Amino acid sequence: MDSSNAVTVEDRRPKHECGVCGIYGHEDAAKLTYFGLYALQHRGQESAGIVASDAGKVSIHKAMGLVPEIFSEDILQGLPGSMAMGHVRYSTTGASNVTNSQPLMVNHRGTTLAVAHNGNLVNSLELRQDLEGKGSIFQTTMDSEVVLHLLARTTHLGLERALTESFSCLKGAYSILLMTPETMVAVRDPGGFRPLCLGKLNSGGWIVASETCALDLVEADYIRDIEPGEMLIIDKKGKMKSIFPWPKQKTNFCIFEQVYFARPDSDIFGINVYESRKRMGEILAREAQIEGDFVMPFPDSGNYAAIGFSKESGIPLEMGMIRNHYVGRTFIQPTQSMRDFNVRVKLNPVRSLLKDKRVIIVEDSIIRGTTGKSRVKALREAGAKEVHMMVSCPPTRHACYYGIDFPSSDQLIAAQHSVEETAAYLGLDSLHYLSVDGLVEATGLAKDSFCLACFNGVYPVEPDRNFKKDALEI
Ligand code: SF4
Repeated sequence: MDSSNAVTVEDRRPKHECGVCGIYGHEDAAKLTYFGLYALQHRGQESAGIVASDAGKVSIHKAMGLVPEIFSEDILQGLPGSMAMGHVRYSTTGASNVTNSQPLMVNHRGTTLAVAHNGNLVNSLELRQDLEGKGSIFQTTMDSEVVLHLLARTTHLGLERALTESFSCLKGAYSILLMTPETMVAVRDPGGFRPLCLGKLNSGGWIVASETCALDLVEADYIRDIEPGEMLIIDKKGKMKSIFPWPKQKTNFCIFEQVYFARPDSDIFGINVYESRKRMGEILAREAQIEGDFVMPFPDSGNYAAIGFSKESGIPLEMGMIRNHYVGRTFIQPTQSMRDFNVRVKLNPVRSLLKDKRVIIVEDSIIRGTTGKSRVKALREAGAKEVHMMVSCPPTRHACYYGIDFPSSDQLIAAQHSVEETAAYLGLDSLHYLSVDGLVEATGLAKDSFCLACFNGVYPVEPDRNFKKDALEI
C-alpha cells in the first residue's frame, strides 16, 4: 500500500479534552480501569495510559493510539494490583506525543507520584517559570506536570497539607486523579468545570471517573459527583476523607459538556445528557418556528436534539444521511479528483428521501463551518429543495481556555460573520441558533451554575497574561 496516498480524515469538530478513571480496592484494578477508559474513549483518542499499584509496587504502561490498540491481556497482566488509574488524552496543552501522554509519573524522595488530569490550567506558564527558577526540571510540555512539581516540593508537610498548598496555586479547570503507592486522591477545581463522579463497585471497591458511562460498563453504582472544590482521599486502609480547602464559590460547569462533549448515556452535573439534548431540540423548535417536510441530524451530531425538535414541532424525523461506521482515521485518497470525497466517504445522502423536500437539519454546533458547508452541498446535490439548519446551542464566538480545543476566534465562523452571512456561506435557506437562555433552560439548572464563555465572552477564571495553548512548547 502506498502510504503517500493515505490522508487523515480532517475532523474539524471541536475536540474533547481528556478522560480519567481510577479504581480502588479491586484485584483486577488495571483491567477495570481499561474498561473505564474504553467507555471514555470519546474524550481523547490520541494516547492512553494506566498506572497500577500492587502493595506499593507501581507499574505503568502508556502509548499513542486508542485504548484497545494500546492494551492487550498480557499488558494488563503486567499491571497488577488493587489500585489503578488511567487517562485518555487529546492534547489541549502540550504536543501530541508519548512523552506528553498520561498518567504522568515521577519518583521523588523514595516514593512515586502519578497524576491524570482533565481540564486546562490557565496559569501553568507562570507556575512553570517559577518552579524552573527554583530548580525544577520538567520532562514534558504539559500543564499537568506543574501539579507533580508543586506536590514534590511540599510532600514533607504530609499529604493533606501538600495537596492543599499545591492546589491553591492552580488556576483554571481540573478534574484530577493522583496516586501514591498506597493512596488515591480525586480533586475537582472550585468551579467544577469538568465532571468527575464517584461510584461503588460490586466488590466493595471504588471507581472515580469523568463520566457515569464508565461506571455503567464496570457495573458500579453511582454514588455522587466529586464536588467542585473537593479533595477526596482514599488511604491505604480504604478509608475515605473529604476536604474542602477553599471557600465555596459559584460553580462554572462547562455547558458544552451537555451540548456536545459528554456521552448521551452519561449524567453530567446531575443531568442526563440524552434528556437535556432532547430538551434543547424541543426549545429550539419553539424558538425557530420553521416549516419543512422532515427533520434530520447529520449523524451523529444533533441526533438527540433532532428527536426533541421533531417531537415538539410535529415534523417527522428521518435519517437523510447515512454514516459509514467503518471509516478509520485515515484512508487512501482516490487517484483522480473526486469532489467532496472526504465528506462522502463518511456520510452519504439518501437521494430518494431528499429529492424535492424541504429539509430541516439539526446540528449541535457550528465551529468553522467548513464541514457543514460540504454536507449542505451534498444534500442539495441529492435533490433537497430547501435546506434549513437548526443549531442546538448559541453562536460560538469566543475561544475556550478551560480544556476544549476550539480554534481561536478568528477561525470561529460565528465570531467573524453574522447569522445571515453564515447561512449564505453554508448554502442554507435559513439558520437558527438556540438562545443562551433556551440552552440553560434545557439543562434545568440555574444560569449562573455554568461557564458560558464561548457564547458570551465572560470568562469565569481570567487566564494569565501569557496564556495560550502551546505556551509550554519548547
Ligand atoms: S468556554 Fe465554553 S467550552 Fe470552554 S469551559 Fe466554558 S462553556 Fe465549556
